[in-house]
Amino acid sequence: MIVAMQEAATDEQIQQVVEHLIRMGFSVHRTTGARQTVLAAVGARVDFDTRNLEVLAGVQEVHRISAPYKLAGRSFRPQGTVIEFANGLQVGGEQVVVMAGPCSVESREQLFTIAEQISKAGARVLRGGAFKPRTSPYSFQGLGLEALKLLREAADRFDMLVISEVMEISQIAMMVPYVDILQVGARNMQNFNLLRELGKIKKPVLLKRGIAATLEELLLSAEYIMSGGNYEVILCERGIRTFETYTRNTLDISAIPIVHKLSHLPMASDPSHGTGLRDKVPPMARASVAAGADVLLIEVHHDPDRALSDGAQSLYPDQFSQLMGELRMIAPAVGRKL
Ligand code: PEP
Ligand code: MN
Repeated sequence: MIVAMQEAATDEQIQQVVEHLIRMGFSVHRTTGARQTVLAAVGARVDFDTRNLEVLAGVQEVHRISAPYKLAGRSFRPQGTVIEFANGLQVGGEQVVVMAGPCSVESREQLFTIAEQISKAGARVLRGGAFKPRTSPYSFQGLGLEALKLLREAADRFDMLVISEVMEISQIAMMVPYVDILQVGARNMQNFNLLRELGKIKKPVLLKRGIAATLEELLLSAEYIMSGGNYEVILCERGIRTFETYTRNTLDISAIPIVHKLSHLPMASDPSHGTGLRDKVPPMARASVAAGADVLLIEVHHDPDRALSDGAQSLYPDQFSQLMGELRMIAPAVGRKL
């Protein structure tokens, strides 16, 4: 951490800042230039709030140099994290992995119809909500355990893995036997008790960015899971809330290369929730792959007009297949396979 003192700072003020840093466990290196004094504070503390220094008399500015997250940071594993599944699928490697399926599991017929078509088109993981975080308590809330069983059966039948959202701690044990990846939704990104529990299990977690979360906050949430011992975390950009109202959210594609720079964890993009509009999903999916996404999460429904949730952003199976064809051309241009 670098603390630049004001030009007018007195020796006494500088001394007070030095003593404060030492009390906090830092070792301090002082450089006095022609005009101002700069203090370099070196120490292992990652939880230090720089504002505590900014308010001290004589301080001009404070810059943190090391990231507040350690396990999620790129330097922890500079070569990148590759998550490997029992069927050989790798997330974070050369292959771009497409996870697709309906927003919610609605019925056996619905799920099997969609699963068959997306698997033919090349999806490797079947998505589907069993527990739904709906904005209104009167909207469809999901089929629960029945949906988990259907997801497992459909994924096994069509040679895919399963991802589904966990909303609360009590659902973890129920979900683990049925799913291969647990999704933490945008609304739960900072449900720290849930994140801690997910740190104790041996199952990959896909952690979505909250609608108003900074990337640093996303990485700190990943740190919660990792600090419990579960290092298999996939991060996901799913759109953030901005002043733009045309789309449901604003898909922050720059989050993909930024996370790749800051972290070793695989990065997913969800253009379905990121735009909320079916016709905007393919272009943003293509852009995500071009920007280096390791995973795409895409909602597909065979009868979206009758979907119980997120029909407007769900692709028809034919559109999904066409998109997969386009992605197969884009991926090699950026050194990936699909
Ligand atoms: C979902 O994937 O269906 C979902 C509810 O996602 P999010 O948490 O991004 O809104
Ligand atoms: Mn959805």
